[in-house]
Amino acid sequence: MYMFAHLSFPVISYEIYARNTRRDAQRPGMHVLILALVGLAGLLPDILNVHVYLHERMNSYSHSLWPVPVVFLAAIMLVLVFKKLPRVLLFFLPYAYLSHLFLDCISGGIKPFYPLGPIIGDYYIPSSSWRSIDCVFIVVLFIIFGPYVYRLVTTIGKTSENLP
Ligand SMILES: [Zn+2]
Repeated sequence: MYMFAHLSFPVISYEIYARNTRRDAQRPGMHVLILALVGLAGLLPDILNVHVYLHERMNSYSHSLWPVPVVFLAAIMLVLVFKKLPRVLLFFLPYAYLSHLFLDCISGGIKPFYPLGPIIGDYYIPSSSWRSIDCVFIVVLFIIFGPYVYRLVTTIGKTSENLP
């Protein structure tokens, strides 16, 4: 799938989790930072291996399971070094990476134990529909984050009216 879907899927997952647990309600800045980290982790396989063709995806370590423990270790390091970061990232960063592999698995396939083992997955979601899926994600993101962005913009507008 395209990068927008890879970014959106884990971001929406975290947003649903955060709203249900009301965990970042008092810390909007931290919430945005977490969303950015989760989105980045969701894009990471394609950042590590920028590719156009399916065979390039199949022949890369980034689209296998090997980096997942590394992402988990990186999450541990982040949480240990930046003490204000929540431990929930220990779950959501590897989850974001795995979500990328899952989406690629159902849209062409991946080689989870590259260079060994079989290709797993197929074009259950054909490439002709990837743009449409991106559009669906855009609509969902607009529904989820639209009111938040609107509130932010109106707050900034009111604040700037009070400036001399
Ligand atoms: Zn990919």
